[in-house]
Amino acid sequence: MRHVAIIGSGPAGYYSAEALQKALGGEVRIDIIDRMPVPYGLIRFGVAPDHQSIKAVYKRYEKVALSDHVRFVGNVLVGRDVSIDELKGLYDAIILATGAPGDRPLDIPGGDLPGVIGSAAFVGWYNGHPDFAALAPPLDVTAAVVIGNGNVALDVARILSKTPAEFAGSDIVGHAFSALGDSAIRDIHVLGRRGPHQIAMTPKELGELGHLENAAPKVDPADFPPEIDDALLEPGQRKSVTHLRNFTMLDAAKPKRIHFDFFAMPVRIEGDGKAERIVVEKTELDDKGSARGTGETYEIPCGLIVTCIGYQTPPIEGVPYENDRGRFANSEGVIGDGLYCVGWARRGPTGTIGTNRPDGYEVADKIAADIGGAGGRKKRRPGLDRLLDERGVDIVTFRDWQRIEAAEAARAREGSPREKFILIEEMLSARR
Ligand SMILES: Cc1cc2nc3c(=O)[nH]c(=O)nc-3n(C[C@H](O)[C@H](O)[C@H](O)COP(=O)(O)OP(=O)(O)OC[C@H]3O[C@@H](n4cnc5c(N)ncnc54)[C@H](O)[C@@H]3O)c2cc1C
Repeated sequence: MRHVAIIGSGPAGYYSAEALQKALGGEVRIDIIDRMPVPYGLIRFGVAPDHQSIKAVYKRYEKVALSDHVRFVGNVLVGRDVSIDELKGLYDAIILATGAPGDRPLDIPGGDLPGVIGSAAFVGWYNGHPDFAALAPPLDVTAAVVIGNGNVALDVARILSKTPAEFAGSDIVGHAFSALGDSAIRDIHVLGRRGPHQIAMTPKELGELGHLENAAPKVDPADFPPEIDDALLEPGQRKSVTHLRNFTMLDAAKPKRIHFDFFAMPVRIEGDGKAERIVVEKTELDDKGSARGTGETYEIPCGLIVTCIGYQTPPIEGVPYENDRGRFANSEGVIGDGLYCVGWARRGPTGTIGTNRPDGYEVADKIAADIGGAGGRKKRRPGLDRLLDERGVDIVTFRDWQRIEAAEAARAREGSPREKFILIEEMLSARR
């Protein structure tokens, strides 16, 4: 029998567990350890609450989660509650699937003023992540800026624009639902350093902006290259650009506006003790397609700035790390003897949920080849449980999580807003 610890219960963690079961059959026992008391990583705390069909992908992981040989060990922060060296002494292989939960900092003057918020925090706030429950983003202002030209920027702009009625069927957390309902924001500027052809926004998510009840996208036709150049784009990107071109022709007079500011590079954020305006330099594309400043600047008055400029994996003591790329140093998922990584912790923060699947399968095959299915004299699960018990760490199991989920569903049926972190806190304090 072989024993594997997977650190992180997001998509990469569960795909790896599924793949290990296929590769090693009944000869493997898997502990999926997560710092959160609930599983599924960004599916729960990242994917937008109004995208329920995407969030439903977690159901696919339940078969693995409920199988006899897989255990969820929640509420355990690896690196604090237990070290990698200790885990190496207990398990035959360790897979780091810790994602990339930290915002990349906005490295410009004023980037640390109150009112400037990273997307991990902002998205965590509206998704009920306990770390960000007290965030209180300033929504009493009339304009917000969202920095970035990817799908996360679109999520943030859309959530800031929706009416309460448009959140029907979502699982947005109650505090965010109320605060967004009272929001004074009317203008949302989405800033991208380059142009419409360089966006990293997918067609479905972009197209949604054309159908919002109270908000209309605004795009300047002067920002586009000649239409004939669209033929050179790959089909998905061409669809996205077509949406943007259509937005230039929308004549919707709606109370909220989502402005696409292309060729716009943030230079500094100014304000008296808090963000009040952002200074932006106009850019143009150089020969290599990179943005370069033109020297021409303009200001956008705004009290909320959400940065959607990428994420990084927090280092863990004892694990080699690539500072410049913000991820664990690895060669095709292998970090070193018995230590592997998958998902965003391996590749950096790119790709969709499904992109993490091949990672898991590749690493499971490597583990199967490296450690095989027989033997094993490690102290395994009892060893981990003893260690955590000695340290007073309160493990949360998959059954505990199912009770939280059932309580959430019951509240949703009653029409009560969801307060996910409150349910989590209630459960933990009842056990103390
Ligand atoms: C805002 C946002 C919206 C997105 N929307 C979509 C979408 O609509 N569709 C789509 O396909 N993709 C979407 N994605 C991308 C998708 O979420 C990622 O591809 C995927 O979640 C990455 O999986 P992962 O398992 O590597 O990391 P994660 O999902 O982040 O999981 C990592 C897990 O590791 C745990 N962990 C971290 N450190 C430790 C530690 N030291 N000890 C113990 N546990 C730890 C975390 O608590 C977490 O549960 C979105 C991403 C973001 C940020």
